[in-house]
Amino acid sequence: MSTPQQLIRPEILALSAYHVQPAAGMVKLDAMENPFDLPAALRAELGSLAGAAPLNRYPDAGAAELKQRLRTALAIPQAGELLLGNGSDEIIQIVAMALARPGACLLAPEPSFVMYRMIATFCGMRYVGLPLAPDFTLDRAALFDAVKREQPALVFIAYPNNPTGNLFARDDLLELLALAPGLVVMDEAYHAFAQDSFMDLVPGHPNLLVMRTLSKLGLAGLRLGFMAGAPAWIAEFDKLRLPYNINVLTQLLAARTLQDIDVLNAQAAVLRAERARLAAMLAAQAGVQVFPSSANFILFRVAGAGAVFAALKSRNILIKCLHGAHPLLADCLRVTVGTPQENDAFMGALAAALAAQRG
Ligand SMILES: *Cc1c(COP(=O)(O)O)cnc(C)c1O
Repeated sequence: MSTPQQLIRPEILALSAYHVQPAAGMVKLDAMENPFDLPAALRAELGSLAGAAPLNRYPDAGAAELKQRLRTALAIPQAGELLLGNGSDEIIQIVAMALARPGACLLAPEPSFVMYRMIATFCGMRYVGLPLAPDFTLDRAALFDAVKREQPALVFIAYPNNPTGNLFARDDLLELLALAPGLVVMDEAYHAFAQDSFMDLVPGHPNLLVMRTLSKLGLAGLRLGFMAGAPAWIAEFDKLRLPYNINVLTQLLAARTLQDIDVLNAQAAVLRAERARLAAMLAAQAGVQVFPSSANFILFRVAGAGAVFAALKSRNILIKCLHGAHPLLADCLRVTVGTPQENDAFMGALAAALAAQRG
């Protein structure tokens, strides 16, 4: 009988699983979730829809109604075809699987979203991480050199970037689009908080794919991501999509919620205002360096970040410690923007932790 070590691919044996922190009973500011509930009337309606859903039948394989709702609610250009995924993570995986010819390269700035690297490994693509500048801006000369040298089949740009929060310079990205020999995916997971997009450029740019998700907007539990791009590319990716990847409940409940997109957009507006308030409070703390954010989280640096993270946790506040995740993230912590009350609780605990640290 073989052991896992004998049969599992060595690059998989070498991976650690994606780690999700236990959060029961905590103020949960670690995963960029929308902290607000949907209105009670809408929740009740979603309940009835779920109760009446034909759970014995397979879902609509093409999710036609949901796609139409997405187009209307989110202003997807007619020339762009849509691919739906069980979260945008699944879309990253589909695209990488499709492009994973032997030796094909997936390039992404670093630090960025960790799934780019992990999925490149899952699919056997050659991953190249391009270090950002110490202030987390794109090093344009290094980027263009890397593109010329590595000839990536696929470039992922998180716009804005996670975990740093910033938008890379738009002009540099336009130049990247012109220069890249392969596909460029703009990952706009935080679109609602950035209010800037490459979506309008999809019709004129056959190598541009724009990916978004409903997760950060308020439906993380439903798992729905989508990508818009030229029909010729989307048709190939669609062959790799497992049949029925978007389940009945997700199709029904997301389609209904998208009719009330104004509710989610209003919540995002509150979170953008809270982001500004939280950034100002953080910047007012001695010893805290705050990085600019166009997302619903804020990256900050503080001496002894690991101890600060632990002190916050002992006060029931869960954020994300990035110290050790990448050399450029030394002493960095990431906090998701929560409700006003959660943000105040976080700031109170942080001030107490820093005061205790100073002794
Ligand atoms: C959260 C996140 C995603 C994944 O979102 P899902 O749709 O929930 O899978 C993708 N890209 C970035 C940059 C993210 O931060």
